[in-house]
Amino acid sequence: MSDTTLQQRVRLSIFEHFLEHAAPPVVEQLMGDYSLSRDAATDVLRDLDEARHIALVKGTARILMAFPFSAIATPFRVTTRGRSYYANCAWDAIAFHAMLGDDVRVDSYCHHCADPIHIELTNGRASVVDPPETLVYLALRPTEWWSDIITTCSNTMVFFASPEHRDASDLCAPADQAASLSPDQVHALSEPIYAAKFTLEYARPTKEELLRHFAAIGLTGQYWTL
Ligand SMILES: [Zn+2]
Repeated sequence: MSDTTLQQRVRLSIFEHFLEHAAPPVVEQLMGDYSLSRDAATDVLRDLDEARHIALVKGTARILMAFPFSAIATPFRVTTRGRSYYANCAWDAIAFHAMLGDDVRVDSYCHHCADPIHIELTNGRASVVDPPETLVYLALRPTEWWSDIITTCSNTMVFFASPEHRDASDLCAPADQAASLSPDQVHALSEPIYAAKFTLEYARPTKEELLRHFAAIGLTGQYWTL
């Protein structure tokens, strides 16, 4: 296990690098910046992966995800601060607004028909949602998200242009095992998870904190138990 302070500094460096370059740092940069051996730098990355701050490409020390940033092209394009980024999933795309506080534009597609979807977030709400019935679909229960976060993000957290297109999709799950949320709900859901990502002390909310937050924004019922 690597040193906690070092983990915090490296985590923040990864996010700052992503924000500046729309790409993650490579392990050699971390070795140079923190005077670490390859094994020591790789250990820090594995610890950050274990702590759910990032996801590495399996079997490597290459950073694939630093939630919400994606190192590879995805259907979830985000434009903010005059730059363009890839998010890991529909939720992560909207979460850029909670993370940065600045205006965010999301360009994506309906997971069913591939028609374009365009969302703009300003001052804590979705000011543009086109088409207006667009929903964020979470096809797995929260207790399943982290069993394989790469496939969860990549395959099961998507946009649909309408409830009809959700219901027509192969991804559509029984109603009690999936969630359909508005962009505004996803923004509210994101706040305690993403708002402090650019502070050194950032910590993921505990299970209890998350459950309280779900209830506070009206997300109740069997699906939202952890
Ligand atoms: Zn569609």
